[in-house]
Amino acid sequence: MTPFIYTSRPARIRFGAGSLQFVAEEMDALGCRRALLLSTPDQQDDAQRLAHQLGERCAGLFSRAVMHTPVEVTEQALACFEQYQADCVIALGGGSTTGLGKAIAWRNNTPQIVIPTTYAGSEVTPVLGQTSNGIKHTLSDPSVLPEVVIYDPELTFSLPVSVSITSGLNAMAHAIEGLYARDRNPVTSLIAVEGIRALHQSLPVIARDPADSQARSQALYGAWLCGTVLGSVGMALHHKLCHTLGGSFNLPHAQTHAVMLPHTLAWNQHVAARELQPLAAFFGDDLACGVFYFAGKLGAPQSLQALGIGKDDLDQAADIAVSNPYWNPRPIEQTAIRALLQRAWSGHSPA
Ligand code: NAD
Repeated sequence: MTPFIYTSRPARIRFGAGSLQFVAEEMDALGCRRALLLSTPDQQDDAQRLAHQLGERCAGLFSRAVMHTPVEVTEQALACFEQYQADCVIALGGGSTTGLGKAIAWRNNTPQIVIPTTYAGSEVTPVLGQTSNGIKHTLSDPSVLPEVVIYDPELTFSLPVSVSITSGLNAMAHAIEGLYARDRNPVTSLIAVEGIRALHQSLPVIARDPADSQARSQALYGAWLCGTVLGSVGMALHHKLCHTLGGSFNLPHAQTHAVMLPHTLAWNQHVAARELQPLAAFFGDDLACGVFYFAGKLGAPQSLQALGIGKDDLDQAADIAVSNPYWNPRPIEQTAIRALLQRAWSGHSPA
């Protein structure tokens, strides 16, 4: 067996339908008494219900979390944290809300309880992306990792089908890149395949019936596993391209992952054939085409053009992606990446 290093990330995971009821218990276990509750404006009603449930344990609600964690918003939330004399944060929502909680914790080391309602997986990674003056910077620091994660699949029933599908594909992308990561190991590969299996099984059911409780549980379980892979090993070309398209061209996070995944798989699948082999059971031997058809059948967006980036921006996107690349199993170069982006822009099959 090839020697390897596996570092597990400490976190307490509480999983199960109805587990939102345990938030107060988890606060008590952390020794916290006054939480600043975080949400996006869209999820303010859910956050208010949780605030009511927590009673005196909720010091206040900040419901202005937005995508890409702008520093100005973090500063406003920090001011509330201090004004309310909070001693922990509770983030109820997707990656945007989790990001805000992490940004606060990175500044004041406060304990975090995260209650994820999408499949982004940020809650189990030590990674924080923050935007200032329109530029997104990413850091990795153990202090950013949330102490407690409460997965309650009932909170995902309201996640629209289209967002559920793209968010699920975003999760799968973490695990797929984890399978061929330079620092992969047998444990992260095991977790990655199980995460993809759970999402491959559950997303088609959710597309038909978003209130199917078994499928919602499976999908959230899969998202946790895929997020765990993201938090454990390095990501490659796919994440680099998505970070470029999101950070420099403001494309939506999960949708961008959904569009790009078949194309980045087409680039890497032959050099990483052995590592990706377990996925043939789900998507067939041509993984790139298999994922393309799987995503298309579920109604995911399939072209960058549909996400709003102009053809004229592709040269610059390719330049940025190759200028400071992440390690990738197959070397990359500008002309080939520009061609890959062109195919993704047009929405053509990756074959
Ligand atoms: P999001 O958190 O922005 O959520 C998208 C929208 O869906 C929001 O309006 C939100 O309020 C709404 N929503 C979320 N859950 C819902 C539910 N159950 N019912 C109804 N509406 C719901 O999107 P996301 O894709 O989860 O997160 C994207 C952000 O997370 C990006 O900024 C990305 O960079 C970051 N991210 C970070 C990491 C990391 O490890 N640091 C990992 C993944 C994503």
